[in-house]
Amino acid sequence: MGIWNAEYECMDREKLMELQGERLRNTVQRVYSNVNYFRQKMKDKGVEPGDINTVQDLRKLPFTYKQDLRDTYPYGMFSAPMDEVVRIHASTGTTGKRTVVGYTAKDIDIWTELIARCLTAAGADKSDFVHVAYGYGLFTGGLGVHYGAEKIGATVIPISGGNTKRQIEIMQDFGSTILTCTPSYALYLAETMKEMNIDPKKDLKLKAGVFGAEPWTEEMRKEIEEQMGIMAIDIYGLSEIIGPGVSIECEYQNGLHIQEDHFIVEIIDPETEEPLPPGSEGELVFTCITKEALPLIRYRTRDICRLNSEKCECGRTQIRMGKVTGRSDDMLIIRGVNVFPSQIESALLELGLSSPHYQLVVERVGTLDNLEVHVEMTPDMFSDAVRQVEKAEHKIRHNIESILGLTCRVRLLEPKSIQRSEGKAKRVIDKRVK
Ligand SMILES: [Zn+2]
Repeated sequence: MGIWNAEYECMDREKLMELQGERLRNTVQRVYSNVNYFRQKMKDKGVEPGDINTVQDLRKLPFTYKQDLRDTYPYGMFSAPMDEVVRIHASTGTTGKRTVVGYTAKDIDIWTELIARCLTAAGADKSDFVHVAYGYGLFTGGLGVHYGAEKIGATVIPISGGNTKRQIEIMQDFGSTILTCTPSYALYLAETMKEMNIDPKKDLKLKAGVFGAEPWTEEMRKEIEEQMGIMAIDIYGLSEIIGPGVSIECEYQNGLHIQEDHFIVEIIDPETEEPLPPGSEGELVFTCITKEALPLIRYRTRDICRLNSEKCECGRTQIRMGKVTGRSDDMLIIRGVNVFPSQIESALLELGLSSPHYQLVVERVGTLDNLEVHVEMTPDMFSDAVRQVEKAEHKIRHNIESILGLTCRVRLLEPKSIQRSEGKAKRVIDKRVK
């Protein structure tokens, strides 16, 4: 596999730190001068731009929370005048007021460069047909991937999300080779291919997929790779930082390389907010050091993972983040126990019993929280005798309970009875929240 920009992706780490320090100084100065809201936060903490010289000084700076973007909705955190802003994206606002992000022309160039790096890491080049099934629109997925794919000279198929049968027809007719969408949608596509009697390994030209925008497990990767006969690469990003392309896996599929010449990463304890030593599991925090319109400082992502600074065989020197294992705000607290949907997914796929379509339903009965896990069976499993199903329910429950340390109920459902999503899968129904 190639490397798009070896000068930066394989940069000597000492030089990289220097570069980060210089870019951090400029960014802090920019934000302090242009964003009243953040200047006040710095003043409250008693820190001035002059106090920030190297990467080590980062921890003197205040954090930025999603709530800050909501409080300054829509443009209050922007660090460039609006006549320099050439594009707006926004989050869906499913968990509160939507957050708005902006880009200058230079920001779009940087984003395009980052995606070019990501697609190259996934093995794409100008001979490829990049099938962009991420949604186009206010969501950053579609347009984000689009420009990077054009930059490497690939042929972009800007199909956007939805209309699954048409997606597959187009893949077949147009010769899509690289699929980009959410991992749960990739599985849905695989399922629909089966129904249409299309064998992706024979009838399609797909060779790799770049999947992101939601956390997924190793088991889910295996499932996608086996069903489609492709290499499944994890891409990570969030609109507040830039969109997809903050980090990407290489062909070794062993952690996602963070684009450190543009973002400084920290891992903190989400409770105490203290930075954690290398290798610890904690919350990812990013600082943008090259953006103009919205360079957020120490942004709390809520994503939980681990960093790995060991040298990677691919030659990139950028630090790697492990797969995101959950979000500190997706985390459910059930009877005092922390539960991440990804734990349930691992428990299910480990057993190899069911397709990874599942939902957690939490209810409060009296004063007690009840967890019920709905799991779809595979078609062959469901045609078996009732006793088989009972046995499977028992096995799944046992596996989940031993992982969570929490009792639960398991309900096996008919194949395809859990609603499919064309974007992010809905894994949790929390009926305790009114
Ligand atoms: Zn690598």
